[in-house]
Amino acid sequence: MENRKDSEQRRFETRAVHSGEGRVGSEADKKDFYPISTPIYASTTFAHPDIETTDRILGGEEPGYGYARWGNPTVSAFEEALAALEDPGGGSRSFAVSSGMAAMHVALTAAELGSGAKALAAEQLYGSTSVLLLQIFGAAGVETEFFDAYNLGEIEEKVNRLKPRAVVIESISNPLLRVADIPSIAEITKNANSALIVDNTFGTPYLQRPLELGADIVVHSATKYLAGHGDLTAGVVAAGPPYDAAIEQIRKTVGYTIGPFEAWLAHRGLKTLPLRMEKQCWNAREVASRLESNPKVGRVHYPGLSVHPDTGVAERVISDMGGLVSFELASGGKEAAFAFMNALKLCVRAPSLGDIYTLATHPATASHRELPPSRREQLGVTEGMIRLSVGIEHPEDIAADLEQALEKA
Ligand SMILES: *Cc1c(COP(=O)(O)O)cnc(C)c1O
Repeated sequence: MENRKDSEQRRFETRAVHSGEGRVGSEADKKDFYPISTPIYASTTFAHPDIETTDRILGGEEPGYGYARWGNPTVSAFEEALAALEDPGGGSRSFAVSSGMAAMHVALTAAELGSGAKALAAEQLYGSTSVLLLQIFGAAGVETEFFDAYNLGEIEEKVNRLKPRAVVIESISNPLLRVADIPSIAEITKNANSALIVDNTFGTPYLQRPLELGADIVVHSATKYLAGHGDLTAGVVAAGPPYDAAIEQIRKTVGYTIGPFEAWLAHRGLKTLPLRMEKQCWNAREVASRLESNPKVGRVHYPGLSVHPDTGVAERVISDMGGLVSFELASGGKEAAFAFMNALKLCVRAPSLGDIYTLATHPATASHRELPPSRREQLGVTEGMIRLSVGIEHPEDIAADLEQALEKA
């Protein structure tokens, strides 16, 4: 297995392709053949040559596999690759789980968010994360307060007053694509001894590595960019001490296990993350500029445009501007938005992101559906807003489809 030291010196693209692939087998096996891609170990249990070995492995004295809820070689290969991308030089570990929400749940639990503890969460968070905090952790006696993640003064005041156990933010928000100033927020949370949890689903380690910027725990929905092909559900949580040991223990006990098939497919997708992201960032820039000059379009939300409120932060904390673009129809309204959505021929109407296909969603009736209209308005999610997750198609084809649909909006 190529170790972390080798991997640290190699570049991101190289690590994405090779990390985690053990090219397993004894020297004797290698004389015949050995797999260059870690096989799918579809086995619930792993046996050993003798009971003494089993005893040492189960006791944690020797690395190895015993029972699949505790570990599986296909899952480990994926996790090794994730760790090499998320934190190549650091002492953190990555854990694969069954979904992005499972990853958030294990992260919050590892931060010891129990009865009487307080959590502080960005009001721009993914809807299910807010529900998780308010309903699931709320029922267990956790009190959650919300804050504007783009107002450092407010963050500082609330963190110092509440001394929360955990502070939860997203690297890039949905659907306005606001960019969080993680280094400044991390300084505030470190002083208050709060765990800073960053959902980096929109950023991916290609654009940003929050652990290097001072975050304590990073969460991903691997369903999106990491796997990248819209064909599996998975999550990732990455952290260093003391959280990594807690995450490992909780995952093993609660059973957030990802299956070996999903882990294998996600690992396969991860190998092309840099290629996909480079292309998606390029395409998103093209699409944003085409939309900006279209008279049917009102405001365009994209961190690479000078009108975006976080251009300065974006320059500092993300290496490129990402693959998402949101915009408002000049004619406003839900009716126009629906007419636009129905007129799309190439772009897929689907409430997800990060796939190779360009996906279009209507946030007011999808991700922000559960919110009262007044709250949506407050967050800037208008009825005439469309969010695009730009894919890897030719940018001219994407732009042409958007332009013909805009004619019908
Ligand atoms: C999709 C998503 C999640 C949830 O991930 P699942 O894999 O669907 O459980 C969490 N956070 C963000 C930002 C997401 O986009």
